Amino acid sequence: MIAFEEALKIILENTKTLGLEKVFLNQALGMVLAEDIYADRDNPPADNSGMDGFAVRYEDIKGATEENPAVLEIIAESRAGGELVQVKPGTAAYIYTGGLIPEGADTVVQKELTKVEDNRVFIFQELPEGSNIRPQGGDYRKGDLLIKAGKKLRPAEIGILSSVNKPTVYVYQRPRVGILTTGDEILDVGEPVEKLSQIRTSNTYSLYSQVLEAGGEPVILGFSKDNPEDTEKKLSYARSCDILLTTGGVSVGEYDLVKDFVVKVLGVDILFWKVKQKPGKPVAFGVWGQDREKLFFGIPGNPVAAMVVFENMVKPAIRKMSGEEKVLNPVISAKLKGGYRRKKGERLEFIRVALELTDDGFVATPFGKQGSNILTGMVFAHGFGMVEVGVTEIKEGEKIKVVVFDKSFMDGTFDG
Ligand code: AMP
Ligand code: MG
Repeated sequence: MIAFEEALKIILENTKTLGLEKVFLNQALGMVLAEDIYADRDNPPADNSGMDGFAVRYEDIKGATEENPAVLEIIAESRAGGELVQVKPGTAAYIYTGGLIPEGADTVVQKELTKVEDNRVFIFQELPEGSNIRPQGGDYRKGDLLIKAGKKLRPAEIGILSSVNKPTVYVYQRPRVGILTTGDEILDVGEPVEKLSQIRTSNTYSLYSQVLEAGGEPVILGFSKDNPEDTEKKLSYARSCDILLTTGGVSVGEYDLVKDFVVKVLGVDILFWKVKQKPGKPVAFGVWGQDREKLFFGIPGNPVAAMVVFENMVKPAIRKMSGEEKVLNPVISAKLKGGYRRKKGERLEFIRVALELTDDGFVATPFGKQGSNILTGMVFAHGFGMVEVGVTEIKEGEKIKVVVFDKSFMDGTFDG
């Protein structure tokens, strides 16, 4: 049995980043950019106005005051998307935000400081030369490197891609992640209950959703019974996947066939089985495929174990395959409310906690029932508190490290 940190190291060392694909901008959200992005033009492409008002020559408004305003004849108009116009001595042009600065003009006076009568504008205040002008290239210059390869694309980057006229962009492929659910007792949603011992699946769809959240492309491979024939058949469906996730059947029971059969059917090389963690001890991991480029995770069947193993082990692998540089969930330090005790300290334990952000920092509250089969504890959880190896008690108010998988507890904390 290996330590959690060792297991994570083995996983990441054996995870290879996938190749590239070209996607349309509106499919690029959350994908990792695989090319450097350069500016195709200056932005703004020419000097333009940051205000609605009048484009003037500084010379003409020098010394203007409330009592002694500058009076200029209005001879033109410059609006966003309009033509380049001209201003001569003693004249001004109407100008609107985004309008090109007219030839001859060097200053924009905002509307609020002016009054119009007939065809003349009265300007009641001198402004510094160049006021309210957004200079050509003030944002960026043609040829500037705007976004480096490796950046995970958010709405801001997608806006920039669009502004530099990139309708398509090279990104890293998302891994196809196959999910095979095992167990004689497991029912898919919609199937009728015929026996008391039957269990409706949760893992199939919680894993499916976790894969989506992590940026992978989930594929449900089906449900297999705990017998060699069915296991062999359903495992063969995994061949087109980059990552195979199985749930259940990976422990030491007579009917736990998964480990042996992934070796037999897919040629998986198992790199570890069993990790000193709770829940999720019997997790298995291996590599397969022609160049050992594919991954296998044998995930225990207990619903909480499945979710914990995914967040801590599978998600980092999906992110690495997708080209991401930061692959781990954030870990914060929080005050533990109510404290936590356990009998043995042999394994790293992940306890489900609700998080709050208070004036005093993060506060973590553990869910009462921590059994690995208690899925309801996940409903309110935002993170997994880490009770380290050797630790059997954390007192009320002491600090605990928490792996955060859901940041929604911070929503609404912006108070303007
Ligand atoms: P196993 O890892 O196959 O020994 O299963 C451990 C426990 O998890 C058993 O009580 C199973 O019934 C339960 N279990 C296995 N697979 C699932 C699943 N897909 N959904 C919900 N519970 C499951
Ligand atoms: Mg089972």
